[in-house]
Amino acid sequence: MTAKSWKKKISAAILCGIVGISVSAVLPVPAAEAGNLGSIIGTVIQGAAAKQQVDAQIKYFDQTEEGRQQLFAAFKKKYGVSDNYYRMQQLDEMMPRLTKGIAAVDPSIHKKPYLYFINKQNTFNAFCSMGHVMSVNEGMYSLTDNQDEVAVVLAHEMGHGQKNHVASAMRKKLNVAIGAAMVGSAVGGSALSNIALNVLVNQIDTVAITKKDEWEADNLAFDYVVNAGYNPGAAAAIWQRVEEKYGKSKTSFAGEIFSPSDHPTHQQRRDNYVKKLHEYSGKHATAEKGVVKVNGKALVQPAAANDMSGAERSYFVLGNLAAAYHNGHNKSNAYASGNTLMLGQQPIMTCYAGDPSAAELAELLNKIK
Ligand SMILES: [Zn+2]
Repeated sequence: MTAKSWKKKISAAILCGIVGISVSAVLPVPAAEAGNLGSIIGTVIQGAAAKQQVDAQIKYFDQTEEGRQQLFAAFKKKYGVSDNYYRMQQLDEMMPRLTKGIAAVDPSIHKKPYLYFINKQNTFNAFCSMGHVMSVNEGMYSLTDNQDEVAVVLAHEMGHGQKNHVASAMRKKLNVAIGAAMVGSAVGGSALSNIALNVLVNQIDTVAITKKDEWEADNLAFDYVVNAGYNPGAAAAIWQRVEEKYGKSKTSFAGEIFSPSDHPTHQQRRDNYVKKLHEYSGKHATAEKGVVKVNGKALVQPAAANDMSGAERSYFVLGNLAAAYHNGHNKSNAYASGNTLMLGQQPIMTCYAGDPSAAELAELLNKIK
């Protein structure tokens, strides 16, 4: 994420070398001597050596326990560790659940369990660096308090982690920093590690993840939340919420998940998830402009309730319906259990003031399902 204030802070941080290393200690780059074959060959050899060093640094921070822990500690130091005990406890419950859900489709997660913490930044963001080192901003919880929606954000970041998107996106930045450090000077491995760590920790906000990788992380997040047993409708719901809270502007809040200018728009991401929910329901259920539809017929237009707009709620109802169809509960009857509409064993919607009653909805659902 890159809120403007962050950008300022980060550039300042880069200038002073946040993890205790001074980039300025690196020897200055000597001026190139035109036409000097020896120096050209030297540059080529140095380029290859720099590439080798970048590979070695990525391997260290991404794949060794020592490197991962070092990166984890550096992120904690830079961004601060939240003392919100309730949120930490919630995250400690969610991460194993998501890990299990991911392992169902990608068992490689067990080889590199996620290292995570809640940081003190108050902007709405989360990030995942290489080495499965991950962090959620305290500010994310001011956008949403809903656990299913938080799960979607975590799953998106873990999608980047599982596919190593950050390592590929960071390579360019590392090439530049390490290449510059190595030109004309013999810099040792530990100095290069410090330079790499500096880049990894300070430039996480400006890492350019490609649009293709963003879509991949979004699509993986859907599978992960389904496998972890969260309401998959939350994936569309959170983008509805973002749209309502921040409008079309991407500049009011920045950061990896939400704002880089080449990312898909909020609506595109929401609509992609609605399409996936429709597929997941076996093409029986969808939601459009706040109206939940079953087999093309309107079932309900939920009222605003519980700090959610009607449209945001409609996606949660859609998620429950999609799960009901996917798991075969549609073969059973719909009925009201108190003020909750049920389809077989699957709760579909809890009705509040302004909604039709659960009994009315059950009668309608039995006719159109
Ligand atoms: Zn992302």
